[in-house]
Amino acid sequence: MRIDNEKCIACGTCAAYCPTDAIVKEGKTYYIDEMLCVECNNCYRSQSCKQEALLLEKLTYPRSLRNVFSDVYSVAKETGVAGRGTEEMKTNDVTNRIKNGQAIVGIELGRPSVSTTFRDVDKMTRVLFKHKVRMESSNPLASLIDLESGKVKEELLDERAISCIIEVLTELEDLEDVLKAIIENASRLDTVFSLFVASKIDAGGKPEAQTVLERMKIPVPAGGKTNVGLGQE
Ligand code: SF4
Ligand code: SF4
Repeated sequence: MRIDNEKCIACGTCAAYCPTDAIVKEGKTYYIDEMLCVECNNCYRSQSCKQEALLLEKLTYPRSLRNVFSDVYSVAKETGVAGRGTEEMKTNDVTNRIKNGQAIVGIELGRPSVSTTFRDVDKMTRVLFKHKVRMESSNPLASLIDLESGKVKEELLDERAISCIIEVLTELEDLEDVLKAIIENASRLDTVFSLFVASKIDAGGKPEAQTVLERMKIPVPAGGKTNVGLGQE
C-alpha cells in the first residue's frame, strides 16, 4: 500500500483502520511504513480515504506473501479458499484426517497490532520438526518450509504478516514432547502465539488429548470447540 502525497490532506482517518499501526504521521503528512505494512488492504477496503490517496500496488514475490497471510479475501493456492491458515481442524469431522490416537497441534503466531515475521515461523518450525510431527500439506506455509529441517526460505525471513498458523499432526504418545518443545521455545520469539490442540473424542466423550494436557497442567477450556461436519469430503 502506498499514500499519494499529492492527494493526501493528512486527515489521519485511514490510520484507524490499520491493524499494524503502519500508517504513520510525519510532520504534516502521512506515510506507510513499508516494514510494518502487511498488505492486508484494510485501509483501502474501508473506503476511509475520500481523497483517493491510498494506492493499491502490484506486489511481487516475496512481498506478495504478506497479502496471502494477512488479507482475509486473499486466496492461498494451497487451500484454494480465502482466508488465512488451514482447514484441517475445522473440517476433520468430514475429512477424518485426524485418526484416533493422533492429535493436531496448531500454533498461530502473531495477532493484529503485534503481527509476526516468517523469522518467527522459522524459529518455531526448526524446533518443532526435530520431533515426530508431520506438517499439514494444505497449509499455506507448507511450500515455504523445508519439511525435513523446518527451515523457512531465506528470502521470506523478514516478511511480515498479521498471523501465520503452523499446523502439524502427531501421535498422542509424542504430544507431550511436542508441547514441551513449543513452550520452551516461546521466549525466543519476537511475537505472541496461541496454541490449539485437537483430537478425536474418546468413548467417554472426552477429547483424547485431554489426559496429556491435564498431566502437563495446561488448562483445558470447559467450552472447548467442537466441530460437527455437515458437508461432504
Ligand atoms: S494495507 Fe493493511 S497494514 Fe498496510 S497500511 Fe493498509 S491497513 Fe495498514
Ligand atoms: S484518509 Fe486519505 S487523506 Fe486522510 S490521511 Fe489517509 S491517505 Fe491521507
